[in-house]
Amino acid sequence: MSEDYEKLLDRALEQVPKAVLESSRFQIPEAEVAIVGNRTILRNFRSIASALNREPEHLIKYLLRELGVAGNIEGTQAVFQGKFLNTAVDERIRRYVEEFVLCRECGKPDTRLERRERFYILRCEACGARASMRSV
Ligand SMILES: [Zn+2]
Repeated sequence: MSEDYEKLLDRALEQVPKAVLESSRFQIPEAEVAIVGNRTILRNFRSIASALNREPEHLIKYLLRELGVAGNIEGTQAVFQGKFLNTAVDERIRRYVEEFVLCRECGKPDTRLERRERFYILRCEACGARASMRSV
């Protein structure tokens, strides 16, 4: 590779917005949803929570509030008292990621959620930014 070509490549990479590179690396798992009677089972609930690196209890609290129903965690699954399509569940998970996972400053998902007494702090391990969060 010639030096000129390398410079050209560097310049081309610099022009790609960082957010594009990051979002291609970070995949939100798709909800695997089954409707059983009047209930909706989110089969891969625990693996979604661990992919997002968040407490399952925090995620379910958010989902129940956003879906406006009662429900609970049963083993590796979450159960909602109501019927929801997977697109509806995916949409809530995406919003959860935007609010509680992605760094406000750099957009990376390498963050930790730390509990304080009445609120949470989202701490970014990539850029060091911190943001306080409303509680769920
Ligand atoms: Zn950051």
